[in-house]
Amino acid sequence: MSVPEFYPADSATLRQWDNAHVWHPFTAMSVYVDETAPIIAEADGFDLIDTDGQRYLDGISSLWCNVHGHRVPAIDNAIRQQLDRVGHSTLLGLSSQTSIRLAKALVDRTPDNLTRVFYSDSGSTAVEVALKLAYQYHHQKQNPEPQRDTFLCVGNAYHGDTLGSVSVGGIDVFHRVYKHLLFPTVSVPSPVVIRIQEGHTAESWLQYCFDEVEQQIRRHHERAAGFVIEPLVQGAAGILVHPPGYLKHVRDLCTAHNIPLIADEVAVGFGRTGTMFACEQEAVLPDLLCLAKGITGGYLPLAATLATEEIYAAFLGAPSEGRTFFHGHTYTGNALGCAAALASLELFDSNNLLSNINAQATLIAEQLQPLRAHDYVGQIRQKGTMVGIELVCDAATMESLPAELRTGHEVTIAARRRGVIIRPLSDVVVLMPAPGMSLEQVRRLCEVTVESIEQVMANLR
Ligand SMILES: *Cc1c(COP(=O)(O)O)cnc(C)c1O
Repeated sequence: MSVPEFYPADSATLRQWDNAHVWHPFTAMSVYVDETAPIIAEADGFDLIDTDGQRYLDGISSLWCNVHGHRVPAIDNAIRQQLDRVGHSTLLGLSSQTSIRLAKALVDRTPDNLTRVFYSDSGSTAVEVALKLAYQYHHQKQNPEPQRDTFLCVGNAYHGDTLGSVSVGGIDVFHRVYKHLLFPTVSVPSPVVIRIQEGHTAESWLQYCFDEVEQQIRRHHERAAGFVIEPLVQGAAGILVHPPGYLKHVRDLCTAHNIPLIADEVAVGFGRTGTMFACEQEAVLPDLLCLAKGITGGYLPLAATLATEEIYAAFLGAPSEGRTFFHGHTYTGNALGCAAALASLELFDSNNLLSNINAQATLIAEQLQPLRAHDYVGQIRQKGTMVGIELVCDAATMESLPAELRTGHEVTIAARRRGVIIRPLSDVVVLMPAPGMSLEQVRRLCEVTVESIEQVMANLR
């Protein structure tokens, strides 16, 4: 039986309605309406297929969330089977079979100190939950410290788009207009060597960053409610890769001053950096862990904030004491999302995905080598399968390209003509192949990227 079509679905009509009614996220709509972007109608493995039947390799995992490809039989079946039982029921005061099973699976796979799972539905809400939990924890723990009301965060961080997560973010173009709506935070410099301050060498700048986080934590330790960090890689800032030891350094400082460490693994979790979770690489145990994007294999909106037993315990007491965590979203713990997530976790094991990720990472590094010869390639940053290729006027000075050229965007359009979907962060061309992608497909993604960059840059000169 086919689904009744109340509205026709030919490409021309859809295009017209798209331009008339759909407001796209993070999209300059005035330009978008003339770009005839593909209208995706279906998918097949790692290909997206538009309403005209054109196929595109999905080079950014559908914005960093797809893991095993699209229309994966094991996940499709898990969702269908769940659908035959129940699509959604609330977790407010009730429980559900699939959300319990997923909570157990997450606790089994995440760092050992994390035992409690609070569900929500996006990376932003996972971070909001972590911030509110940390804040309330200090009010209610055994020796309360309600003066701990300030979050520390890393410069150029991105933790989502709701106001709490924007407050701990630091991406100027996204965030500056809201600055009067945000709560104040203390921010430390991002420990990366890109455009280092005058008077510094690469080495002295990193040393300064390590020292500065120590200074700031010492200065603010009495009021620090939590330290929020994207472990190992700052994604939305342009795939900024932290030096080894930074995460551990922050963990040690937080431990010394009783500051909860909030690890936002929304982007880096589920294999992207080469281990299941990025924190594992420095044997770091966060107090709160935020997961979303890849959790369902990229199928459905689901997120989780994991907490330690110590944090959880501060919320216990007689109901009348008001220690409850008064937070929840309607679709918290959605059964379809949880079913997809369980199936996705099983595929990690059965497909030996972590070893594929490491093979992909090696191949990408090799394939992108030719770009290093160009003086307009400022940096190629990579951790696992997260890649950022920064295009500049001149690599020697790292002078930026004029924003009005929209060079990163032009590379995307050039790649699209070659049948590959990528999306830049301004002039950083981002590659984020899905962990399950074959090496052949990863090779094609890299080849098209190199060609597209070379073509766009040749036209500029
Ligand atoms: C994408 C992202 C978020 C926000 O997730 P949404 O599901 O888009 O709300 C938060 N933190 C990090 C590190 C991200 O990359």
